[in-house]
Amino acid sequence: MQHLKAQTQEIISSNPATGDVIGRVPLTSAAEVQSAVMRARTAQSGWATLSFKERGRVILKARELILADMEGIAELISHETGKPVAEAVSMEIVPTLDLMHYFAHHSAKLLKPQKIDIGQYGLMGRSSRMVYQPLGVVGIISPWNFPWATPLDEVVMALMSGNSVVLKPSELTPLTALKIAEVFERAGLAKGLVEVVTGDGSTGAALIDAGVDKIMFTGSVATGKRVAEAAAKHLTPVVLELGGKDPMIVFADANIENAARAAVWGAFANSGQACASIERCYVDESIAAEFIKAVVGETERLKQGNPTETDIDVGAMSNERQLHIVEDHVADALKGGAKVLSGGARLKGSGWFHEPTVLTNVSHGMKIMREETFGPTLPIMTFKSEAEALRLANDSVYGLTACVWTNNITRGRRVAERIDAGTVMVNEVVYTHGIAQTPWGGVKQSGYGRTHGRMGLLEMVSPRHIHVNRFGFVPDLWWFPYSPNASKLFRGLATHFTTGSILRTARLLPQMIRRLLERN
Ligand code: NAD
Repeated sequence: MQHLKAQTQEIISSNPATGDVIGRVPLTSAAEVQSAVMRARTAQSGWATLSFKERGRVILKARELILADMEGIAELISHETGKPVAEAVSMEIVPTLDLMHYFAHHSAKLLKPQKIDIGQYGLMGRSSRMVYQPLGVVGIISPWNFPWATPLDEVVMALMSGNSVVLKPSELTPLTALKIAEVFERAGLAKGLVEVVTGDGSTGAALIDAGVDKIMFTGSVATGKRVAEAAAKHLTPVVLELGGKDPMIVFADANIENAARAAVWGAFANSGQACASIERCYVDESIAAEFIKAVVGETERLKQGNPTETDIDVGAMSNERQLHIVEDHVADALKGGAKVLSGGARLKGSGWFHEPTVLTNVSHGMKIMREETFGPTLPIMTFKSEAEALRLANDSVYGLTACVWTNNITRGRRVAERIDAGTVMVNEVVYTHGIAQTPWGGVKQSGYGRTHGRMGLLEMVSPRHIHVNRFGFVPDLWWFPYSPNASKLFRGLATHFTTGSILRTARLLPQMIRRLLERN
């Protein structure tokens, strides 16, 4: 069995495509987690005094080192996850290099102090600005499906904002996380700024209890709820990036061939183990036959096998537990009358492989349309109208991403805005997690808070409002002592000042002057 916790309190990392053990790491105890957080806290104070440019220099150095060791890193990711090496490069390394470049160069601008328009208070010599301070120590708890990109993106955003980081990677992919720490060490980052605590859920729980200043959690809904509950005990703010059951809607006017290709890549890339994978597909019944034929044709062309070979499209699933969930969902669908048009079973032999599987005759009563499958399945249903497509897409407890396929962009935008999801793409699938500039996060059970983009960077800082009064020599009208004249003025403020109209407020000038004189 893969990734067993041995008696020596170790985590064993093995290759899901072959079963070979590839490394052992310690299961970090609660006391050791506490020490890591303390080291991170000590290191952070110096780091926070550096300019954005100085911090960016370290990130860019790390970026250079990643580029130089790209093949080795991609192979390690592939060995730990079972995904094709090509995909480790395209879906993990490329977006991360782009994100490192973006935040190294743009964080200063994104976190620049901002003036706030305070309306009529501004006429009274006041001004307001937002400044953004580092939080301190950011705890990152990450899953196994993108073991490089998911934590590294957040490490970069946390560091650029002046924080230190304690990262608890998935127990299935600890070596990839240790590689992240190694890269930063070689880039000259001071000790303690990126601490990696390897371990399982108990280590993650210890990190929440160790008094970090924020938790960035990516994982399942069930664990996310436990994390939110544990963090609430310390009032630690949390970002929850959770699961999805992402729908794809294909309208009759879509480019059918391209939509079919998108469906196949969106459902089967990373063996369907992306939080934004297409998990449900709805196609207009008038083009369903043509679309489904194209989907099946594309699926049959996919090559599945040893993920280190360059022409392999689909590798192994990352663990046996996930493979069982896929088998269970397929079996449940078949019991309910679903038809398998391609694939349908796990591959015989060693490794956790499941065939890319296309299903029709599915319904919303089935697990495969309701629960997160997180595997290479593409169940397809038909719809008769836009309203029905929307109703089906929104009939889910999840809301991470969705996509709409149509040549009518106006319609695409209209439908996109009515789908309950954090990101809705028109004529695109999955990939916007790779755009550093755009926010990523879900609605409903897919979580709250954001990562990436300015919204993601703001999760890494403590926003502070600085308010200045240039007329510090004049007492405020609403201060003591109260008097009949003051009461009259307050009522006047209620009726005039609060309208936001300077002209109406001006009518109160005589009363205001009387009030000032009264106190002198
Ligand atoms: P998981 O919830 O099982 O584990 C996630 C992490 O939480 C792991 O590091 C695990 O060790 C840790 N953990 C477990 N119990 C804990 C506890 N009590 N306290 C603190 N930490 C604990 O998820 P997984 O199986 O590793 O990942 C798959 C899930 O992640 C899927 O549901 C997928 O949709 C989701 N995901 C979401 C996004 C997103 O951006 N929304 C991205 C990737 C994956």
